[in-house]
Amino acid sequence: MVTISSTNSVYNMSPDNTPAAYAESGDVVRFETLDCFGGQITNEEQRLGGINWERINPATGPLFINQAEPGDTLRVEIQKIEQDSHAVVVEAPGEGITGIKLTDEATRIFPVNEGRVYFNDKLSFDISPMIGVIGTAPEKESILTGTPGAHGGNMDCTRLGEGTVLYLPVNVKGALLAMGDMHAIMGDGEVCVCGAEIGGAITVRVSVIKGRRMPLPFLVTSDHFMTICSADSLEAAAEGATLSMRGFLMNELGMDIHSAGMLLSLCSDLRICQAVDPQKTCRMEVPLEVAEKYGYSFE
Ligand code: CA
Ligand code: CA
Repeated sequence: MVTISSTNSVYNMSPDNTPAAYAESGDVVRFETLDCFGGQITNEEQRLGGINWERINPATGPLFINQAEPGDTLRVEIQKIEQDSHAVVVEAPGEGITGIKLTDEATRIFPVNEGRVYFNDKLSFDISPMIGVIGTAPEKESILTGTPGAHGGNMDCTRLGEGTVLYLPVNVKGALLAMGDMHAIMGDGEVCVCGAEIGGAITVRVSVIKGRRMPLPFLVTSDHFMTICSADSLEAAAEGATLSMRGFLMNELGMDIHSAGMLLSLCSDLRICQAVDPQKTCRMEVPLEVAEKYGYSFE
């Protein structure tokens, strides 16, 4: 299995990045990742303002997939997520929604073990490991790893966990897939600008699908399929995710426009991924049963 060490970090998704490793379509690849602080925060006395911001949001990669050509779809099956034994969370004035009217910074380090995050002596939670940053290179521009977009990137979608299949656009030869910024647990919205930030390793199977059938990025979990849209505002992201899913239901499942719209309104969920990054991200979740009843296969 190809393994990419976390020493191979990029801070932007760019067609100009040099590949860290090469794979064939169908290969399984392990990405070792640092937390979003680049591993710089190791005690609760450290503050976000005091670390090197040029090392924030490292993404491991990029991986060059030999068969991937512009116009293709990259299928990324998230097979396994391993994470460290502690998670870091910070708050700072001006960062995130809870940074509004905040006057000082804080850092907490939470133990993570045996599948639980220990918040304090009263509260602990089951972990729900997820990937914050995952994307391919845009066609021409270079986009910081902290920003989400049509290429994926910092989507901070809680559904990007083990077992999920993510479909991304191939914009350049080789696709140049990179990922990082894992969370042990995160609520929709990521309102304090952090999940439970944690390093670890992500094992994925990468496959090239010729052409494009679905609006990208697109996710399939064990019980839903979903569109993801990032835009300047939550409102624009909500519209984008909803209308691209309506288009998918019409183009791929053959629904008429009113059936598709009503289905989304009656039995699908429009949710916020994150409300705190330079672009905001929403998703539209449709029960998998809908695709099954229409005989549609995502493979
Ligand atoms: Ca993030
Ligand atoms: Ca994060």
